Amino acid sequence: MPIYIVLLGPPGAGKGTQAQIISKELNLPHISSGDIFRENLKNQTELGIIAERYMTRGELVPDDITISMIHDRLSREDCKPGSLLDGFPRTPAQAAALDNTLAEFRGKVNAVPYIKVPQEVLIERLTGRWTCRAEGHIFHDRFNPPRQKGVCDYDGSQLYQRDDDTEETVKNRIHVYFKQTMPLIDYYRQAGLLLEVDGRQPIEKVGADLIYAISKSI
Ligand code: ADP
Ligand code: AMP
Repeated sequence: MPIYIVLLGPPGAGKGTQAQIISKELNLPHISSGDIFRENLKNQTELGIIAERYMTRGELVPDDITISMIHDRLSREDCKPGSLLDGFPRTPAQAAALDNTLAEFRGKVNAVPYIKVPQEVLIERLTGRWTCRAEGHIFHDRFNPPRQKGVCDYDGSQLYQRDDDTEETVKNRIHVYFKQTMPLIDYYRQAGLLLEVDGRQPIEKVGADLIYAISKSI
């Protein structure tokens, strides 16, 4: 049976950072909806051009577009063993669609680690974030600086600041999260799947806590 893990948490909680660490440990591909939209935007596909309108404002891309994109991605061969989902689902409609999609693959959501971080920390994390052009490796100018400024430690590619990591857009993304994504916490808690982890700790400790909580529950 495939294993599906959904990483939950506000923008800036550390989902991408942790997914890069734990997908190797769990041997599951890291599927980030935001990364897929950014890749499409870079390649100027129709999907990327539509998504850009929403992303630059910090709004969510409409559910139908996002759901069908994730369905396509999860249907690919590398997701046969399951996947580690980061940034999807983000609305109750997406969560319901995910349940249906996974049933199609004879699977289900097995665990939902929730990286908990207080709101006041998020703006500083996101406005200081640096992302690598080649693979999306994540750094922070104070909390997780690269060895050489502006250069990715892992592949030597250039680091850039995302267009939606400006203070104004970040504030809207956090607002959108509270309005549209927070209900999922209760949805997965009631399903007995939620695993709360303290995301204020150092990156390595958050990773260790996540792996411990996930391994115990799957
Ligand atoms: P998300 O994917 O949830 O939006 P990221 O993983 O991109 O969040 O992390 C946001 C920023 O916070 C990045 O710059 C990252 O380096 C930094 N960061 C992630 N985890 C921690 C942590 N535990 N402590 C301090 N900074 C962190
Ligand atoms: P992220 O990389 O997760 O921070 O996402 C960046 C942006 O991509 C978001 O602000 C949204 O505009 C869009 N996005 C990513 N995932 C989703 C999703 N599940 N539903 C709708 N929009 C999304």
